[in-house]
This record gives sequence, C-alpha cells and structure tokens, in this order.
Amino acid sequence: METMTTACVKLNAQASNKTEAVRLAGQLLVDAGYIDPGYVDSMLKREEVANTFLGSAVAIPHGMVEDRHLIHHTGVAVVQFRDGVSWKDGDRAQLVVAIAAKSDEHIVLLRRLTRLMQRPQSIESLVATNDAQLIVGTLADEPVQAASPVAAVQEWPNDAQSVWTLDYPNGLHARPATRWVDTAKRFACELRVYKGQEFADAKALTGLLSLGAARGDSLRFAARGPDARRAVDALLDVVHSLSSEEKADAERARRNALAARRSAPDWLPGGSPQAIYGIGASPGLAIGALVRHVSHQFDVHDVPGDVVAEGEALEAAVLAISQELETLEAQTRSRLGATEAAIFAAHRELIADADLLRDALASILRGHGAAWAWQNALQTRVEKLQGVADPLLAARALDLRDVGERVLARMLGIERQRLVLTQPSILVAEDLTPSDTLQLDMAFVVGLAISSGGPTSHTAILARTLGLPAVVAAGSALLAAPEGQLAVIDGSVGAVYLDVSQTDQDAAAAVIERQLAARNTLRESRYLPATTSDGHTIEIAANVANAKQASVAIEAGAEGVGLMRTEFLFLERNSAPDEDEQYRVYREMTEAMGGRTLIIRALDIGGDKKVAYLNLPQEENPFLGVRGARLLLIRQDLLYTQLRALYRAAAHGPIRIMFPMVTHTSEIEALREHCERARAQVNGPELKIGIMVEVPAVAVMADKFAPLVDFFSVGTNDLTQYTLAIDRQHPALAAQADSLHPAVLDLIARTVAAAKKHGTWVGVCGGLAGDPLGARILTGLGVDELSMSAQDIASVKATLRGDSFNAMQQLAQRALAAGSADEVRAL
Ligand code: PEP
Ligand code: MG
Repeated sequence: METMTTACVKLNAQASNKTEAVRLAGQLLVDAGYIDPGYVDSMLKREEVANTFLGSAVAIPHGMVEDRHLIHHTGVAVVQFRDGVSWKDGDRAQLVVAIAAKSDEHIVLLRRLTRLMQRPQSIESLVATNDAQLIVGTLADEPVQAASPVAAVQEWPNDAQSVWTLDYPNGLHARPATRWVDTAKRFACELRVYKGQEFADAKALTGLLSLGAARGDSLRFAARGPDARRAVDALLDVVHSLSSEEKADAERARRNALAARRSAPDWLPGGSPQAIYGIGASPGLAIGALVRHVSHQFDVHDVPGDVVAEGEALEAAVLAISQELETLEAQTRSRLGATEAAIFAAHRELIADADLLRDALASILRGHGAAWAWQNALQTRVEKLQGVADPLLAARALDLRDVGERVLARMLGIERQRLVLTQPSILVAEDLTPSDTLQLDMAFVVGLAISSGGPTSHTAILARTLGLPAVVAAGSALLAAPEGQLAVIDGSVGAVYLDVSQTDQDAAAAVIERQLAARNTLRESRYLPATTSDGHTIEIAANVANAKQASVAIEAGAEGVGLMRTEFLFLERNSAPDEDEQYRVYREMTEAMGGRTLIIRALDIGGDKKVAYLNLPQEENPFLGVRGARLLLIRQDLLYTQLRALYRAAAHGPIRIMFPMVTHTSEIEALREHCERARAQVNGPELKIGIMVEVPAVAVMADKFAPLVDFFSVGTNDLTQYTLAIDRQHPALAAQADSLHPAVLDLIARTVAAAKKHGTWVGVCGGLAGDPLGARILTGLGVDELSMSAQDIASVKATLRGDSFNAMQQLAQRALAAGSADEVRAL
C-alpha cells in the first residue's frame, strides 16, 4: 500500500490496555492527515462489536463502515508493542496495524499480513526490529498470491466451473445465501462453492455461511453431473443479480446510520448519569425499567430409543417448525413487509439444511436420542458459524440457534416462555432472536438494549419496523446493570443512561410525549374522511388477507376493504380449502366489516404465488402464464367452490367479487355467467362484479370493459410490471418498477376516463395508493377509492385533507406530462 510511510510507524510503544493502543495507532493516522479524529472513536466502537485480533500477535483495528466518511485518504499505521497489549480472550497483540480504508484497498494488506503470519519468524522480526523501514518494506513487498484453482480442480474433477469475486458489501450472509441455495437445489448435479481450498455444498445454507466469504473473496462455483453447466450458469445469474440488491441495502443502512449520527439528540441528560454507549439501531427515546431477557436453557438428556421412531420424531419436529415458520413468514409479510418476512424464509432454509439433518440422523443411528442428536449437530454448526472472522456472518449463528432451538423445544414438548411484564420495560439481552422480538409484549416493551449484535442484525431490522427504540452492541456493562433499574435509552445516538435524575427523566418524558403527540394527532384524525380542503371526498379502504387484519384496518381508519387477497387461504397447507371452510372465512370477514364494503378478490394463484398441491404445470414465465382469472376459467372446480362460498357468505353482509388478471372481454363475460350459475346454486343475493385493471390491454380498452363490469380496481403493482416489462420481484430491476412512471399513470387516466363515461366506480388497490404522492396524483386523476395497507391509512388521509382537489388535479396533469418517474417524484 503506497499510503504507508515511516511517519505512520511507531516502534517500541507502551499501552496499558487495548483502548490506549487503538488510540495511539489512530492518532498516527490523524496526525498524518488520513482521518478525522472521530474515526478513532469509530475504531473503538468496532472493537466492541468485533474482535480485530487476527492471530500471531497481530491486531488490525479499523472503524465502522458507516464512518468511512471520516476518512480523508486511505492509510495504514503500525504500532509495535514489544511487550504486547492484552487484546481479547487472553490474546496479546504486539503489532497493531490500524487501517483506514476508503474502500477495499486494505484487502491486499490483509492478504500480505495473513501470508506473513504463516511464517512466525517474519512477524517476530517485525516485533523486534528497530527499523521502521523494515516494517513498511515488508508489508509493501510481501507478494500476494491467490489460491491456485488448478490444485482444487485436481482434487475434485468437475464438469463446469466459474470464478467470481464476491462484491456484496456485507459478505455472503443468510439472505443472499438462501437464494443461492434455492437456485442450487433446482439442479440434480453436485454443486460446490470454493473459497481457496475450502468448499461448501451450494445446497446447504450453513455450509455456505461457514465459508465466511467476505466482500472481495474470490469464489469458484464448480459442478459435477449432467446439468453441471446449466447449474453453474443459473447460480451465477442469481449471484450477479443479487449484487445490486445487496449494495442498495448496505447503502440504505449506511445512510440511516449517518442520518442517526448527524441528528442532534432530542434530549441529553443534564447531570452525569452513568452512560453505556452502543450503536443506535432504531431511533427514538424510551424510559423504562430494565428487564433482563434470558433465553431458555435446554437441559437435554441423551435418551436413546428405537432408531426409526427417533428419526421420525426428529423429522416430524423439523417439518412442523418449517410449517410454523411459513406461517410466521406470511404473517410478518402482511404485518411488517417482505424484507422482514424474508428473515423467516432464511430460517426455513436453515433447518431444511440437508447436512444438519444428516448429521443429526447419523448420530441417532449411532444410538443417540433424537433431541440429543439434534442439539449436538446444531451446536457444532452454530460454533462453526460463530468462528468465522466476519462479525456479520458470525451474527447469523444466532439465527441458526433460534430456529434449531424451536425444533428442540418442539421435540421436548417445551413451550417457549414469554416474558411476563407489568410495567413499561426496556428489554436487556445479550441478543434477541427474531422470533423473540416478534413475540414481545408490545403493551409494555418500550425499548431494546442489546449487548451484542449490530445495526444490521435481524433484531435491529424488526425493531425499526415495529417503531421500537433500540441500542445494540452496548457491551457487557449493560448486562451488569441492575434489573428493575429505571433507564433512558436513546436509539438515535445509541446510548443507555442509568441513574437518570428526576429532572432529566421529566425532560425525557416531555420529549417522548411531544413525539407521541405528533403521532397521536395523526392517529386521532384517522376516522375523519379524506375530504380535500375544497370539499372533494375520496374513499379510503384497506388491503387485507383475513378477518383479523380487517378489524385492525378498521381500527386504523379504513372505511372498507378494497382488496381481500384470498390466496392466503390456499397457501401453507396440503389441500385446497373446501366450500364450507371458505364460507366460514368469508362470513367471518363480512361480520368483521360491520356493514362496510368488502371487495373479495377471487383466487389469484400463479405468478409468484405457487400452490404445490394444485399440481399446476411448471411455466417458463409464470407472470405471463396461467394466472388469476386464466386459471379459474380452466380450473372450474376451484372457481365454483369459491363462488358458492362467496354467495353464501354474502347473506351476512355486503360483498363485491373481483377477478384478477383479466385480459379479454370474453373472460369477464364468461366469469359473469359462472357467477350467475353459482349464485343460483346456493340461492345467493346479486353481487357487484368487478375486475382488477392490471393488464395494460384492459386499461387501453377500458371503454370496452366498463359496460361489462360493476367496478374497476387498478392493481398498480402488476400494471407497472406489465407496462414497464419489469418483473416486480427482480432484484436488480425492481427499483425501476416505479408506479409513478408517466406511462403507468397514463393507463390509469384512460381507465378513469372510460369509467366516468360509463358511470363505473374505479378504485386503486396497488402499492401506489398508499404512497402520499401517489395518493394525491391518483385523487387528482379522479379515482373514487384508494385501498392500501393499514399502516398507511392515517397519513394518506391527512395528506389528502391537507391539499385541495384542484391542486391535485393540476399535479396529476403535470405528472402525466412528465418524461420519467423521477420527474414525477421531483414534482
Ligand atoms: C396489484 O397487482 O397491484 C395488486 C394489488 O395485486 P397483487 O399485489 O396481489 O398482485
Ligand atoms: Mg396483482
């Protein structure tokens, strides 16, 4: 690295502890003009979340990624401590190499260091030398040599291979690795991922994670078997396509962290209370009693039994938990969102790991009991993951333990205990698993203080989504804080304050109250209609999947349900729900609505929603295939069961039926006939029948469709993907699939115009309806209703009440005239 000079080397230094050592090395970088002094604090913070001891007496302190803006130029400083400095877990560092790297340049240095470490005498001479130039020269001259792929090829002959340099900023962590595994599993061949001479089965998540592959690592994908080439190519496709998603995620986390650091604290204690600093993981202030959350300790005895029965017990527990996770995934998706739900998809993949199950089964075959065997296999995996150098990947060990212990609890018949709280509490824990976080008693938990973890941990993600202030990486001092003590946490700056004076508590409470008041004003006005300042009212409805969500939505201010997705009734099970079961669900829905309008969408299976037990043929392009109404017209068994159930339920409250993915007028004509036949079969009432406008052809020909339907509801999610020809789930392109694209708005404008001409009601139930700008433009375009997720209702209503219809109409016209989605957003 040219950026190291002798000015940045300090020989024979003394430090009584690690902090002093890091400060000394950091100061060299400050003095050389490489970094802002703030970066030294960041280096110390890194030591709290990770151990930078590399081995062989070498430590490499460096700052947090989100603080890279404090680096002026990439640089390295080396401090030689001949007597050594106690670093962590009994390790002593004699060569402290402080790194300030603006991007990836330090990888080269790391390779040189690790190569040097393979020759202990080289490190020893650097520790003993009086010549700073020797240190600079050695680190600059050590050749960097990549692992030879040829050697590995000889070990394992393969039919296809490709090499790729990992460019995910957070390394190969569970979410992308899950996608790799999903892809690898589609192929029959053996597929391996090599990092140097180490390799992992590409179909086994824990193996992949324990490679500890970090950004910059050269990985080799090798396959053996009939479809080897296709498998490697498919894997590479996924690997590449995830790059931009991962980079965008890291960029978001970076921006959030920066915003949190830059925001002035809303409150600071006046006295000098004891403060424990960590990292702000979810913003906001909270006051509460510290309550310690201790995870369940499993006391597993080895009780050998019949080998077959034990094996079956294990498999049954794994299957049951897998199904539980699927439910949790679906619930989290509807409650919080797809990103949060992906955590549980990754969990499912973790326990579906064939290697883990195989190890446990092998142990059963050796005569051990199922629970013991599983715990052992699990522990081995967890320890392996914890051992990888990258702290982000090591954190995923927690996910594996979480999910593995669910299986264990199931086998042992133990109910995972919920903490019983009686007062506002700040939960203190070494770490919380995602399942723990989701099961918190939100009536009493006001904040989270975690001693380990990091801002990108799943717990942090969930805390942000739940709006719960959280501090992570607060260190072991946090765990020593007395239980029950009152504390204030500031999730924006990452601080936990103990012994806060009464005056400071009052001041903090006043700030919290102000923040709450702002939220409450919004909440309190949630039942007011969305009437613009010049008197135009638009209906505001919710998108839901079941009766419970409908009640939540009404509580949140919904005036009706604009879309009930019935697919969820068909997912996560082994056979289709029969007519009676569907009738009960729809009836429960209508009853929850208390007379408000309920639009139930007929089954929209196909596309991204697959149902194995329907045995539908594989499709190359499922989004362009037999989906929604197309499927219902082919599978009339499904259609009639659902229609009869709907007409029976309609006796209990107003229901409208809506068909998805309609493309041709002939389809709606046929569907209406089927509706009439089903209605006659059960002697049901006449119902309004409408269609989703999500295929561009329907919007273009809305004039022809309007006379055939009672209402339209624009599905902007699909309308956008079909108009822009961008798969709505495409990791690299999804960000471009912006429903504010003028082409999409133009199609909506045409639909509204045709609807008005024929007196047809038109709503919007895609994601654009819940976006404040989208809601104003759609209102300006003249739609009658906006249907969105419950959490968007209060703010969309407030936005619409705060503006005039006239201004929204003008805004809509300007949006239609714009040249791109960005231009529309700029309006
Ligand atoms: C849409 O496509 O906009 C829509 C609301 O339906 P879904 O998201 O269920 O496809
Ligand atoms: Mg749709």
